[in-house]
Amino acid sequence: EVVTRFAPSPTGFLHIGGARTALFNWLYARRHGGRMMLRIEDTDRERSTQEAIDAILDGMKWLGLDWDGDVIYQFSRAGRHAEVAHELLARGSAYRCYATPQELEEMREKARAEKRPPRYDGRWRDRDPSEAPAGAPYVVRIKAPEAGETVIEDAVQGRVVFPNKDLDDFILLRSDGTPTYMLAVVVDDHDMGVTQIIRGDDHLTNAARQKHIYEAMDWEAPAFAHIPLIHGPDGAKLSKRHGALGVDAYRAMGYLPSALRNYLVRLGWSQGDKEFFSLPEMIEAFDLAQVHRSPARFDFVKLENMNGHYLRDTPDDELFQILIDTLPFLEGGKAALDALDDKKRAQLRAALPGLKARAKTLNELVDGAGFLFAQRPLPIDEKAQKLLSAEAKARLAALGPKLAMATEWTAASTEAVVRDLSVELGVKLGDLAQPLRAALTGRSTSPGIFDVLEILGREESLGRIGDQSA
Ligand code: GLU
Repeated sequence: EVVTRFAPSPTGFLHIGGARTALFNWLYARRHGGRMMLRIEDTDRERSTQEAIDAILDGMKWLGLDWDGDVIYQFSRAGRHAEVAHELLARGSAYRCYATPQELEEMREKARAEKRPPRYDGRWRDRDPSEAPAGAPYVVRIKAPEAGETVIEDAVQGRVVFPNKDLDDFILLRSDGTPTYMLAVVVDDHDMGVTQIIRGDDHLTNAARQKHIYEAMDWEAPAFAHIPLIHGPDGAKLSKRHGALGVDAYRAMGYLPSALRNYLVRLGWSQGDKEFFSLPEMIEAFDLAQVHRSPARFDFVKLENMNGHYLRDTPDDELFQILIDTLPFLEGGKAALDALDDKKRAQLRAALPGLKARAKTLNELVDGAGFLFAQRPLPIDEKAQKLLSAEAKARLAALGPKLAMATEWTAASTEAVVRDLSVELGVKLGDLAQPLRAALTGRSTSPGIFDVLEILGREESLGRIGDQSA
């Protein structure tokens, strides 16, 4: 059975790179009828926060990435991690190291002087612990192979060879008895039955070290896939600390989870030049062999276009529900939500097809719906103001009474009245419809103007026309 896991550290929000890693793990598990587990790596007690945990769980739910089984909290397993460290000691695959902070600093200084990365020199590797002062603090270190090489057959990076002389005897247990990240990850992945690791390629060197633990324990190591990180459009690395790039920020910017998912799967993975993947298609097509080796570049314009596609493509009832659920997170959405009585709700629903055709994000959609929530007299923006010349206002003055006489108030019936009047006045339809748009919405663009008339209703429409008539 295929088992993957997403293992975020809750020291920041679920950033976009983490979301993509989660998505790849999820797709791989679903593709192979396996499981994806979620492990919160909260061993850094200082930097881990409940807020970040909530943001991760919330972000995954929003993206539709469900995990199997309970969330596993790494810190709660510290006892088990220590147990494995002691097992490694008993096997002679690890040892107690009593090197003092001062000695370690000297090793670092030496490395600096020789212009090479610092490396523990193995001074306690073959010494007897009885040589240490009684009660002296110690760490537990792995007895890593000194010669030869460690090879990672990576599904994305290919065959990666690490000379063992470059990998030192890293720490498994700190002097306070707490496990290091390196140990915890291996023990957890083993105990969780993980068969395939998919994570950022910043962990590639760790894979070689982790392999030493697997070998020392006679455990079978999972398969590895280290995916290139996401870079910014300028080629610079996208930083975790870019708070604006948390998944919650994308929700607040009005992106649909379906669009973000599709954008993320295409970021560093492709199948021919196919751009749009439904969820079933994605699951069917996803394959580690097609993950690119070079960093992906994050491109807001592409994401926007994809989002626009998904807005138009999502059935209206479904989109409406997403919109209502997302309103509290959107700019200006709270105000809209407060104003959303039954009537406004029905109007918004009726306007949705016209609004979604003109928007690339839910924020733009809400902005476009502003005319529904505006109070008379309407604020008129600059472009709309230009449409309301003295002549235009005179035409509106003629239109008001004609519309008032309409027996029926639908898009079709009001359109007929407007067309008749334009013929009667000898002007183009636009010369009447554009000022009408300005009067009804305060904007120069809006959903189809006859739909707007129908949605606003007779009384409100006539009021707004009257406000701009002269
Ligand atoms: N907790 C690590 C991180 O957030 C991931 C560890 C792993 O996937 O092995 O970078």
